[in-house]
Amino acid sequence: MLPSLVVRPCRHTGRVSSDIPPHRIPGRADVLVVGAGPGGSAAAAHAAAAGHDVVLLDAATFPRDKTCGDGLTPRAVAELDHLGLGDYLDDRPRIDGLALHGWGAQQLVHWPSGRFPAYGSAVSRVEFDEAIRVHAVARGARMIQGAKAVDVTMSNGRIDEVIVESADGPAAIAVRDVIVADGVRSALGKALGREWHRDTAYGVAARAYVPSGRADDHWMGSHLELRGPDGALLPGYGWVFPLGGAGDGLLNVGVGALATAQRPAHMALRPILEHYARMVGDEWAIGGPPQRITSALLPMGGAVTGVAGPNWMLIGDAAACVNPLNGEGIDYAMETGRLAVELIDDTRRSPDHTTRWTDILVEHYGLAFSAARRLAGVLTVPQAVPTLGRPGIRSARLMSLVVRVMGNLITPEDADLVARAWRTAGRVSTRIDDRPPFR
Ligand SMILES: Cc1cc2nc3c(=O)[nH]c(=O)nc-3n(C[C@H](O)[C@H](O)[C@H](O)COP(=O)(O)OP(=O)(O)OC[C@H]3O[C@@H](n4cnc5c(N)ncnc54)[C@H](O)[C@@H]3O)c2cc1C
Repeated sequence: MLPSLVVRPCRHTGRVSSDIPPHRIPGRADVLVVGAGPGGSAAAAHAAAAGHDVVLLDAATFPRDKTCGDGLTPRAVAELDHLGLGDYLDDRPRIDGLALHGWGAQQLVHWPSGRFPAYGSAVSRVEFDEAIRVHAVARGARMIQGAKAVDVTMSNGRIDEVIVESADGPAAIAVRDVIVADGVRSALGKALGREWHRDTAYGVAARAYVPSGRADDHWMGSHLELRGPDGALLPGYGWVFPLGGAGDGLLNVGVGALATAQRPAHMALRPILEHYARMVGDEWAIGGPPQRITSALLPMGGAVTGVAGPNWMLIGDAAACVNPLNGEGIDYAMETGRLAVELIDDTRRSPDHTTRWTDILVEHYGLAFSAARRLAGVLTVPQAVPTLGRPGIRSARLMSLVVRVMGNLITPEDADLVARAWRTAGRVSTRIDDRPPFR
């Protein structure tokens, strides 16, 4: 039987969700955060810590699952520090880097050392999202579960009220600022005019859990040569992320594919995932078939417009803040949550986020997302992956460069040749973009 995904009490507060008394839907909030994924909960925690009256709202009842690879990059580890949860990962898996496989070769590549911590982790989203949410509540955010934001009332582009539906019926919450963190589909974002453009690369991905004798491994497995059950090479990648547990823990296994409107990925992900799990079964000491298989789309690389208005901002997946080269977005969700609160504090003097929020997203992610999604678009061309991958995987130097670039672990402060070349690529790419990120 598959071990269950446990939710441990938050080590800072000792709390689990059942300790948190449910709040009634209030009539007003300074900052209303819609969605309690890592983006929304991080935003709520930062806003509450900054002294705002915060309401955090989610349609789901927690703890809840979220389709994900559960992988935490060094960027995500850095965000936990910003939240004051620096020691959250002390008793979780410590991941030193990526074990890259393909075309008969393997490279172990350490995370680069630099501004970000030199390690990552992997924690099931049932547990991870719960920890951040509980932390937000401990900091003073009022959490409403099982309440869906369905509409808004507006004047001059400003949100006056958010309309919420729960088991008690509809209610209206008057707001000063709204942070929209409602994920990939972003129904509230759509109601506010957010549009997702699929002419640049987006992802489709599926994940599952398997029992394994190697769940306490220190490497994330990443297979750049992904083949379907018929042996055909697919424009995608496979992953194996160890979730911890000596001898009898779980792995998150998954497959992801890149697509564009021009080259959509018409693949049945479930059989590909099952085949992939069999393929890596011996190597990863997998002790059973994949279970809890789910899949989802991933808007990537800031391929959305309409991310802000005078008193509202979209963050995380709602703003397509997902890395086009590896599909990670937990870190960007948390980062954008922090940046949104910084903007709210900054603009209390001149309160209009419309242009500033778009500018902030462009400033932080524009160049990297533009270059990355262009490269991701190239990888959707069938021959591109073997042409680049077969020779590339044999070079340790090249693969460490790939991990640094693919993980977007280059910072504006980095002044080495690779960093400068990547920024130049970003500038050129943005200049020739029909639609640059977030615009
Ligand atoms: C298969 C797959 C694998 C992935 N693997 C990784 C990985 O290994 N590492 C990584 O970093 N990223 C990964 N990602 C991406 C990652 O899952 C997302 O980037 C991340 O969850 C974004 O967080 P978020 O807070 O923006 O949104 P979410 O985590 O999606 O949270 C949104 C929340 O909003 C709530 N909500 C939605 N609508 C409403 C509404 N109207 N009213 C109230 N609440 C609402 C939802 O219930 C949900 O709790 C993966 C994605 C997929 C699909």
